[in-house]
Amino acid sequence: MDQIIVEDLQVYAYHGVYPQENEEGQNFYVSVVLDTDTRAAGMADDLGLSTNYGVVCRFLHTFLTEHTYKLIETAAERAAEALLLQFPHVRQVTMEIKKPEAPITVPFGSVSVKIVRGWRRAYVACGSNIGDKKAHLRAAVDALLTDKKCRVLRVSDWVETTPYGGVEQADYLNGALALETLYTPEELLEKLHEIEKAEARERKERWGPRTLDLDILLYEGAVMDTDQLTIPHRDMCNRDFVLKPLAQIAPYERHPVVGKAIVELLAEVEKNGEKHVLYN
Ligand code: ATP
Ligand code: CA
Ligand code: CA
Repeated sequence: MDQIIVEDLQVYAYHGVYPQENEEGQNFYVSVVLDTDTRAAGMADDLGLSTNYGVVCRFLHTFLTEHTYKLIETAAERAAEALLLQFPHVRQVTMEIKKPEAPITVPFGSVSVKIVRGWRRAYVACGSNIGDKKAHLRAAVDALLTDKKCRVLRVSDWVETTPYGGVEQADYLNGALALETLYTPEELLEKLHEIEKAEARERKERWGPRTLDLDILLYEGAVMDTDQLTIPHRDMCNRDFVLKPLAQIAPYERHPVVGKAIVELLAEVEKNGEKHVLYN
């Protein structure tokens, strides 16, 4: 992707662990690389279509003088997030904050922290089979729409489905969402659990009835498996009620492990797998 680059923006600020640093201040030097598509601005010679680096510099300067943090890790984290929220064309920020006057008792050139943060594409499955199912699913979409760290890109139609996993229970309404998010996978899962809780989700038995279930299907090509989180979702390839709505909003997205497009996975499960989607 194209980049807009600022090197060593000088900011006199008060970040530091020691009280003397907070009182007297020192120089920090901030470098940022903004990943952003400059084609439209470049072709039209129109600053309005680009991200104005002068405005970026002033924004960063103000941000880093108006806030004081103990750590430059925190200063970088917060400033990168603020940039990503403020400048809509910027997809990713690489930010380095140098602190060449840091209180270190041996000679050194400079110390710095460098981080990369950006909007990440995620796909979320949603399901409900208790109460006003449509209202629960709608509440999930609304909660994500009002979260500044998420941008809801697409919402599938809701499909009626029969339950999965052998527990006797009511039919489901299922759907899928496409998001861009600043959350890490773990943070996104936590957010989804909060939204489930707000809809009075109770965790009793696996695959049992629920007001709202939100699962992370895919997250920006990530492949991970921890106690809390498996991405891609462990069982998505076997579930027509997941793949059907996902294929509507992201037909050619590829499963990073299996390597197949969502439409191919759906065709396979429709041919050979269990049928849960109630087709009209
Ligand atoms: P399934 O995950 O097979 O659809 P479920 O959604 O009914 O079953 P839950 O009781 O909602 O299961 O979740 C159990 C745990 O699964 C969660 O607390 C979470 O830590 C873990 N988990 C692992 N991978 C994921 C994922 N990709 N999305 C959501 N939860 C996940
Ligand atoms: Ca689930
Ligand atoms: Ca779940």
